[in-house]
Amino acid sequence: MQTAELIWEIKNNIEKIGRSLKVIEVCGTHTVSIYKNGFHTLFEGYIDFISGPGCPVCVTHEGYIDRLVELSSEWTIYTFGDLLKVPGSSKSLSQARANGGKIKVMYSPVDAVEHLENNEKVIFAAVGFETTAPAFALSLEKVIEKGLKNVKFACELKTIDEPLKSLLQNHIRVDGIILPGHVATVIGVDSFKFVEGFKVASVISGFEGYDILLSLLSITQDILNEDFTVKNEYKRVVKKEGNVIAKGYIEKYFERTSAFFRGLGLIPGGGLKIKDEFREYSIDMSYDNTKQKDSLCRCADVLTGKIKPFECPLFEKVCTPISPKGACMVSQEGSCNAYFRYGKWKGR
Ligand code: SF4
Repeated sequence: MQTAELIWEIKNNIEKIGRSLKVIEVCGTHTVSIYKNGFHTLFEGYIDFISGPGCPVCVTHEGYIDRLVELSSEWTIYTFGDLLKVPGSSKSLSQARANGGKIKVMYSPVDAVEHLENNEKVIFAAVGFETTAPAFALSLEKVIEKGLKNVKFACELKTIDEPLKSLLQNHIRVDGIILPGHVATVIGVDSFKFVEGFKVASVISGFEGYDILLSLLSITQDILNEDFTVKNEYKRVVKKEGNVIAKGYIEKYFERTSAFFRGLGLIPGGGLKIKDEFREYSIDMSYDNTKQKDSLCRCADVLTGKIKPFECPLFEKVCTPISPKGACMVSQEGSCNAYFRYGKWKGR
Protein backbone atom coordinates (compact mmCIF):
# COMPACT_ATOMS: atom_id res chain seq x y z
CA MET A 1 0.00 0.00 0.00
CA GLN A 2 1.29 3.49 -0.85
CA THR A 3 1.97 5.84 2.09
CA ALA A 4 -0.84 8.26 1.14
CA GLU A 5 -3.27 5.38 0.84
CA LEU A 6 -2.22 4.09 4.25
CA ILE A 7 -2.78 7.48 5.88
CA TRP A 8 -6.19 7.73 4.22
CA GLU A 9 -7.13 4.24 5.49
CA ILE A 10 -6.10 5.08 9.07
CA LYS A 11 -8.11 8.31 9.08
CA ASN A 12 -11.04 6.58 7.44
CA ASN A 13 -11.00 3.87 10.12
CA ILE A 14 -10.91 6.48 12.90
CA GLU A 15 -13.88 8.25 11.33
CA LYS A 16 -15.74 4.93 11.38
CA ILE A 17 -14.80 4.51 15.08
CA GLY A 18 -16.32 7.94 15.58
CA ARG A 19 -13.89 9.54 18.04
CA SER A 20 -10.24 10.48 18.35
CA LEU A 21 -7.88 7.85 19.77
CA LYS A 22 -5.28 7.87 22.51
CA VAL A 23 -2.26 5.84 21.44
CA ILE A 24 0.75 5.30 23.66
CA GLU A 25 4.19 4.49 22.31
CA VAL A 26 6.24 2.75 24.97
CA CYS A 27 9.68 3.10 23.41
CA GLY A 28 11.64 6.35 23.10
CA THR A 29 12.80 5.48 19.58
CA HIS A 30 9.14 5.34 18.52
CA THR A 31 8.55 8.73 20.14
CA VAL A 32 11.35 10.19 18.04
CA SER A 33 10.09 8.53 14.85
CA ILE A 34 6.53 9.82 15.40
CA TYR A 35 7.69 13.41 15.90
CA LYS A 36 10.41 13.29 13.26
CA ASN A 37 7.87 12.12 10.68
CA GLY A 38 5.34 14.74 11.78
CA PHE A 39 2.63 12.20 12.60
CA HIS A 40 1.52 14.24 15.63
CA THR A 41 0.43 17.03 13.26
CA LEU A 42 -0.63 14.77 10.39
CA PHE A 43 -3.08 12.97 12.71
CA GLU A 44 -4.06 15.98 14.79
CA GLY A 45 -7.68 15.59 15.86
CA TYR A 46 -7.48 11.87 15.04
CA ILE A 47 -4.75 10.51 17.33
CA ASP A 48 -3.36 11.85 20.58
CA PHE A 49 0.13 10.35 20.93
CA ILE A 50 1.30 9.71 24.48
CA SER A 51 4.85 8.77 25.43
CA GLY A 52 5.41 5.89 27.83
CA PRO A 53 8.16 4.82 30.24
CA GLY A 54 10.41 2.96 27.77
CA CYS A 55 13.40 5.29 27.79
CA PRO A 56 15.79 3.83 30.41
CA VAL A 57 17.58 7.10 31.05
CA CYS A 58 14.29 8.94 31.63
CA VAL A 59 13.02 6.55 34.31
CA THR A 60 16.29 6.36 36.28
CA HIS A 61 16.19 7.82 39.81
CA GLU A 62 18.63 10.63 40.67
CA GLY A 63 19.76 8.51 43.67
CA TYR A 64 21.43 6.13 41.20
CA ILE A 65 23.33 9.03 39.62
CA ASP A 66 24.31 10.34 43.08
CA ARG A 67 25.73 6.95 44.00
CA LEU A 68 27.77 6.75 40.77
CA VAL A 69 29.08 10.28 41.38
CA GLU A 70 30.15 9.24 44.89
CA LEU A 71 31.87 6.08 43.60
CA SER A 72 33.67 7.94 40.80
CA SER A 73 36.29 9.29 43.22
CA GLU A 74 37.58 5.75 43.79
CA TRP A 75 36.40 3.66 40.84
CA THR A 76 36.39 4.31 37.09
CA ILE A 77 32.77 4.42 35.98
CA TYR A 78 32.01 3.17 32.46
CA THR A 79 28.71 4.56 31.20
CA PHE A 80 26.73 5.08 28.01
CA GLY A 81 26.91 8.73 26.89
CA ASP A 82 23.18 9.33 27.43
CA LEU A 83 23.55 9.04 31.20
CA LEU A 84 26.25 11.72 31.47
CA LYS A 85 23.99 14.76 31.64
CA VAL A 86 21.17 13.27 33.72
CA PRO A 87 20.86 15.49 36.80
CA GLY A 88 21.60 13.87 40.16
CA SER A 89 20.39 15.63 43.28
CA SER A 90 23.50 17.83 43.30
CA LYS A 91 25.45 17.09 40.12
CA SER A 92 25.46 15.01 36.94
CA LEU A 93 28.17 12.53 35.94
CA SER A 94 29.39 15.08 33.42
CA GLN A 95 29.85 17.66 36.19
CA ALA A 96 31.49 15.06 38.42
CA ARG A 97 33.95 14.30 35.62
CA ALA A 98 34.77 18.00 35.28
CA ASN A 99 35.54 17.96 39.03
CA GLY A 100 37.97 15.06 38.66
CA GLY A 101 35.60 12.08 38.84
CA LYS A 102 36.85 9.04 36.91
CA ILE A 103 34.13 8.57 34.30
CA LYS A 104 34.51 7.08 30.83
CA VAL A 105 31.96 6.80 28.04
CA MET A 106 31.59 3.35 26.50
CA TYR A 107 29.88 2.29 23.30
CA SER A 108 29.74 -1.39 24.21
CA PRO A 109 30.40 -2.98 27.62
CA VAL A 110 31.63 -6.11 25.83
CA ASP A 111 34.32 -4.14 23.94
CA ALA A 112 35.21 -2.23 27.10
CA VAL A 113 35.90 -5.47 29.00
CA GLU A 114 38.29 -6.61 26.23
CA HIS A 115 40.59 -3.69 27.05
CA LEU A 116 40.55 -3.92 30.86
CA GLU A 117 43.59 -4.93 32.88
CA ASN A 118 43.40 -6.95 36.07
CA ASN A 119 44.36 -4.12 38.42
CA GLU A 120 41.77 -1.62 37.14
CA LYS A 121 38.92 -0.78 39.51
CA VAL A 122 35.97 -0.45 37.19
CA ILE A 123 32.21 -0.13 37.61
CA PHE A 124 29.86 -0.60 34.67
CA ALA A 125 26.73 1.53 34.92
CA ALA A 126 24.30 -1.14 33.74
CA VAL A 127 21.22 0.78 32.64
CA GLY A 128 18.68 -0.34 30.05
CA PHE A 129 15.84 -2.75 29.32
CA GLU A 130 15.94 -6.33 28.03
CA THR A 131 17.54 -5.03 24.82
CA THR A 132 20.69 -4.00 26.67
CA ALA A 133 20.71 -6.64 29.42
CA PRO A 134 22.23 -9.41 27.21
CA ALA A 135 25.25 -7.18 26.45
CA PHE A 136 25.86 -6.71 30.19
CA ALA A 137 25.39 -10.45 30.77
CA LEU A 138 27.97 -11.21 28.09
CA SER A 139 30.34 -8.62 29.60
CA LEU A 140 29.98 -10.27 33.00
CA GLU A 141 30.80 -13.61 31.40
CA LYS A 142 33.95 -12.12 29.85
CA VAL A 143 34.94 -10.54 33.18
CA ILE A 144 34.68 -13.97 34.81
CA GLU A 145 36.62 -15.65 31.96
CA LYS A 146 39.40 -13.06 32.17
CA GLY A 147 39.60 -13.48 35.94
CA LEU A 148 39.11 -9.73 36.54
CA LYS A 149 38.53 -9.23 40.25
CA ASN A 150 38.07 -5.47 40.44
CA VAL A 151 35.20 -5.12 37.99
CA LYS A 152 31.67 -4.59 39.29
CA PHE A 153 28.27 -3.91 37.75
CA ALA A 154 26.00 -1.17 39.11
CA CYS A 155 22.82 -2.89 38.07
CA GLU A 156 19.84 -0.68 37.26
CA LEU A 157 18.47 -2.84 34.45
CA LYS A 158 14.72 -2.79 33.88
CA THR A 159 12.06 -5.08 32.48
CA ILE A 160 9.23 -3.76 30.31
CA ASP A 161 6.25 -5.93 31.29
CA GLU A 162 5.73 -4.88 34.93
CA PRO A 163 5.89 -1.09 34.36
CA LEU A 164 3.56 -1.46 31.40
CA LYS A 165 1.07 -3.38 33.55
CA SER A 166 1.33 -0.71 36.27
CA LEU A 167 0.82 2.08 33.73
CA LEU A 168 -2.28 0.45 32.23
CA GLN A 169 -3.73 -0.58 35.60
CA ASN A 170 -3.13 2.59 37.58
CA HIS A 171 -2.28 5.59 35.45
CA ILE A 172 -3.81 5.87 32.04
CA ARG A 173 -6.55 4.68 29.70
CA VAL A 174 -5.57 4.29 26.07
CA ASP A 175 -7.12 2.87 22.91
CA GLY A 176 -3.91 1.52 21.42
CA ILE A 177 -0.34 0.64 22.31
CA ILE A 178 2.66 0.69 20.00
CA LEU A 179 4.80 -1.97 21.68
CA PRO A 180 8.59 -1.65 21.75
CA GLY A 181 10.21 -3.35 18.76
CA HIS A 182 13.72 -3.45 20.26
CA VAL A 183 12.69 -5.20 23.48
CA ALA A 184 10.36 -7.51 21.55
CA THR A 185 13.34 -8.62 19.44
CA VAL A 186 14.78 -10.13 22.62
CA ILE A 187 11.74 -11.25 24.63
CA GLY A 188 9.44 -12.17 21.70
CA VAL A 189 5.78 -11.64 20.84
CA ASP A 190 4.50 -14.08 23.45
CA SER A 191 5.93 -12.02 26.31
CA PHE A 192 3.39 -9.29 25.52
CA LYS A 193 0.33 -11.54 25.72
CA PHE A 194 -0.54 -10.01 29.12
CA VAL A 195 -1.58 -6.80 27.29
CA GLU A 196 -4.58 -8.65 25.83
CA GLY A 197 -6.16 -8.73 29.29
CA PHE A 198 -6.46 -4.94 29.21
CA LYS A 199 -8.69 -5.01 26.10
CA VAL A 200 -6.47 -2.56 24.26
CA ALA A 201 -5.39 -2.82 20.62
CA SER A 202 -1.66 -3.47 20.61
CA VAL A 203 1.02 -3.97 18.00
CA ILE A 204 4.77 -4.57 17.99
CA SER A 205 6.20 -2.00 15.63
CA GLY A 206 9.37 -1.22 13.69
CA PHE A 207 10.83 2.26 13.73
CA GLU A 208 10.60 3.68 10.21
CA GLY A 209 7.74 6.04 9.40
CA TYR A 210 6.11 3.37 7.23
CA ASP A 211 6.35 0.87 10.12
CA ILE A 212 4.52 3.28 12.42
CA LEU A 213 1.79 3.82 9.82
CA LEU A 214 1.31 0.06 9.42
CA SER A 215 1.02 -0.21 13.19
CA LEU A 216 -1.55 2.59 13.37
CA LEU A 217 -3.55 0.85 10.65
CA SER A 218 -3.40 -2.37 12.68
CA ILE A 219 -4.59 -0.56 15.83
CA THR A 220 -7.54 1.10 14.07
CA GLN A 221 -8.57 -2.17 12.38
CA ASP A 222 -8.38 -4.03 15.71
CA ILE A 223 -10.53 -1.41 17.45
CA LEU A 224 -13.14 -1.71 14.69
CA ASN A 225 -13.05 -5.51 14.92
CA GLU A 226 -12.82 -5.56 18.73
CA ASP A 227 -9.78 -7.80 18.31
CA PHE A 228 -7.37 -7.40 21.22
CA THR A 229 -4.75 -10.01 20.33
CA VAL A 230 -1.19 -8.69 20.16
CA LYS A 231 -0.12 -8.08 16.56
CA ASN A 232 3.39 -8.10 15.15
CA GLU A 233 4.13 -5.59 12.38
CA TYR A 234 7.89 -6.02 12.86
CA LYS A 235 8.07 -9.60 11.60
CA ARG A 236 11.31 -8.99 9.71
CA VAL A 237 13.05 -8.83 13.11
CA VAL A 238 10.74 -9.98 15.92
CA LYS A 239 9.98 -13.67 16.36
CA LYS A 240 7.24 -15.27 18.42
CA GLU A 241 9.77 -16.69 20.88
CA GLY A 242 12.23 -13.77 20.67
CA ASN A 243 15.99 -14.22 20.65
CA VAL A 244 16.55 -17.45 22.55
CA ILE A 245 20.31 -16.94 22.92
CA ALA A 246 19.95 -13.39 24.29
CA LYS A 247 17.18 -14.51 26.67
CA GLY A 248 19.45 -17.35 27.80
CA TYR A 249 22.18 -14.87 28.75
CA ILE A 250 19.71 -12.80 30.78
CA GLU A 251 18.43 -15.89 32.58
CA LYS A 252 21.95 -17.16 33.30
CA TYR A 253 23.20 -14.02 35.05
CA PHE A 254 20.18 -11.98 36.19
CA GLU A 255 17.02 -12.40 38.21
CA ARG A 256 13.99 -10.20 38.77
CA THR A 257 13.96 -7.59 41.49
CA SER A 258 11.95 -4.48 42.38
CA ALA A 259 12.94 -1.35 40.53
CA PHE A 260 12.13 2.34 40.70
CA PHE A 261 10.57 4.01 37.65
CA ARG A 262 10.19 7.79 37.57
CA GLY A 263 6.44 8.49 37.47
CA LEU A 264 5.45 4.94 38.39
CA GLY A 265 7.38 4.48 41.65
CA LEU A 266 8.70 1.16 42.90
CA ILE A 267 7.58 -1.72 40.68
CA PRO A 268 7.95 -5.29 42.01
CA GLY A 269 9.64 -7.42 39.34
CA GLY A 270 10.37 -4.31 37.26
CA GLY A 271 14.14 -4.72 37.43
CA LEU A 272 16.98 -7.19 36.96
CA LYS A 273 19.76 -7.81 39.45
CA ILE A 274 22.83 -10.01 39.27
CA LYS A 275 22.11 -13.50 40.63
CA ASP A 276 23.42 -14.29 44.11
CA GLU A 277 25.97 -16.79 42.78
CA PHE A 278 27.67 -13.89 40.92
CA ARG A 279 27.18 -11.26 43.65
CA GLU A 280 30.92 -10.55 43.97
CA TYR A 281 30.54 -8.70 40.64
CA SER A 282 27.72 -6.52 41.89
CA ILE A 283 28.19 -3.25 43.78
CA ASP A 284 25.71 -2.01 46.36
CA MET A 285 23.75 0.82 44.76
CA SER A 286 21.11 1.23 47.48
CA TYR A 287 19.57 4.66 47.56
CA ASP A 288 16.45 6.11 49.10
CA ASN A 289 13.93 5.88 46.26
CA THR A 290 11.21 7.53 48.34
CA LYS A 291 13.01 10.88 48.16
CA GLN A 292 13.14 12.88 44.98
CA LYS A 293 14.79 16.16 44.26
CA ASP A 294 12.56 19.14 44.81
CA SER A 295 12.26 20.45 41.28
CA LEU A 296 9.80 22.02 38.87
CA CYS A 297 10.72 19.31 36.36
CA ARG A 298 7.60 17.32 35.47
CA CYS A 299 9.22 14.28 33.87
CA ALA A 300 7.12 12.00 36.08
CA ASP A 301 3.91 13.47 34.62
CA VAL A 302 5.29 13.35 31.07
CA LEU A 303 6.24 9.68 31.45
CA THR A 304 2.76 8.72 32.62
CA GLY A 305 0.96 10.68 29.90
CA LYS A 306 -0.52 13.27 32.30
CA ILE A 307 1.00 16.21 30.47
CA LYS A 308 2.77 16.92 27.20
CA PRO A 309 6.34 18.21 27.47
CA PHE A 310 5.35 21.74 26.38
CA GLU A 311 3.01 21.93 29.38
CA CYS A 312 6.00 21.79 31.74
CA PRO A 313 6.79 25.36 32.87
CA LEU A 314 10.51 24.84 32.23
CA PHE A 315 10.19 23.47 28.68
CA GLU A 316 12.25 25.44 26.17
CA LYS A 317 12.53 28.40 28.58
CA VAL A 318 15.18 27.02 30.89
CA CYS A 319 15.19 23.33 29.93
CA THR A 320 16.79 22.54 26.58
CA PRO A 321 19.01 19.70 25.28
CA ILE A 322 22.06 21.93 25.94
CA SER A 323 20.96 22.69 29.49
CA PRO A 324 18.58 19.89 30.52
CA LYS A 325 16.76 20.14 33.84
CA GLY A 326 15.31 16.65 33.67
CA ALA A 327 16.13 13.23 32.25
CA CYS A 328 13.43 13.42 29.55
CA MET A 329 15.32 16.31 27.94
CA VAL A 330 18.74 14.67 28.29
CA SER A 331 18.12 11.51 26.39
CA GLN A 332 17.92 11.61 22.60
CA GLU A 333 14.95 9.26 23.08
CA GLY A 334 13.25 11.34 25.76
CA SER A 335 9.86 12.87 24.97
CA CYS A 336 10.91 16.39 25.93
CA ASN A 337 13.98 16.12 23.73
CA ALA A 338 11.89 14.79 20.80
CA TYR A 339 9.34 17.60 21.24
CA PHE A 340 12.11 20.16 21.38
CA ARG A 341 13.77 18.92 18.19
CA TYR A 342 10.79 18.01 16.04
CA GLY A 343 7.65 19.38 17.67
CA LYS A 344 5.48 21.86 15.85
CA TRP A 345 2.92 21.66 18.57
CA LYS A 346 -0.01 23.94 19.21
CA GLY A 347 0.86 27.09 21.08
CA ARG A 348 4.57 27.05 20.27
S1 SF4 B 1 10.88 20.03 29.86
FE1 SF4 B 1 12.68 19.60 31.13
S2 SF4 B 1 12.08 20.16 33.18
FE2 SF4 B 1 10.20 19.91 31.99
S3 SF4 B 1 9.53 17.77 32.22
FE3 SF4 B 1 10.82 17.85 30.42
S4 SF4 B 1 12.88 17.38 31.19
FE4 SF4 B 1 11.68 17.94 32.99
